[in-house]
Amino acid sequence: MLRFFLFDVDDTLYPSHSGLWDVIGERITTYMIERVGVDPRVVNELRKSYLENFGTALNGLRHDYGIDVDDYLQYVHDLPLDRYLNPDPALDAMLSRLPLQKIVFTNSDAAHSMRVMNRLGVAHHFSRVIDIRALEFTNKPDPLAYQKVLAMLNATADECIFADDALRNLRPAKAIGMTTILVNNDLSLDGVDYKVRSVLEVEEIVESLGNFKAR
Ligand SMILES: [Mg+2]
Repeated sequence: MLRFFLFDVDDTLYPSHSGLWDVIGERITTYMIERVGVDPRVVNELRKSYLENFGTALNGLRHDYGIDVDDYLQYVHDLPLDRYLNPDPALDAMLSRLPLQKIVFTNSDAAHSMRVMNRLGVAHHFSRVIDIRALEFTNKPDPLAYQKVLAMLNATADECIFADDALRNLRPAKAIGMTTILVNNDLSLDGVDYKVRSVLEVEEIVESLGNFKAR
């Protein structure tokens, strides 16, 4: 029986064409060059390898350089959100109708996630934000991160639906039995239960599943 709807935040609750995630990526690159001293000629390659091997640039940088986490998170998220995001009344209304407990499951930190959700006008729907700190820097797609989430929620995988824009983050969720929804414009990607272009479309999927416990 479904009880929880887990949502990624960046590029999932808001569309990837907002440009916000791109500028956060640029700040990560700048941080690596200016604060860490990474050679600009290899920085893109290194970022890519961190994503593949550690799930986030943050954990790669912690491993290789022992960076100050607070400094990093503050630096990469220091952006005027209202330039990229607008309040989203349609998302607000959809979340109101969704008959499951809504939880944030993000590789980012709670401060950034809350700023994003406040700007979108949807923060009040979420009963819990499970972020990189709550997970003690275990992150998607490390299978341990999903086990920690289940333990925190006192839930089983089959009680959870999970929506994320990254296929690599959904695969481990599907492997343990969560219902998985890819929110991505590239519908050719495979390996999940459902695929939608916009987070607004998840409502229809939940309705079709039907098997949930009302809040
Ligand atoms: Mg994302």
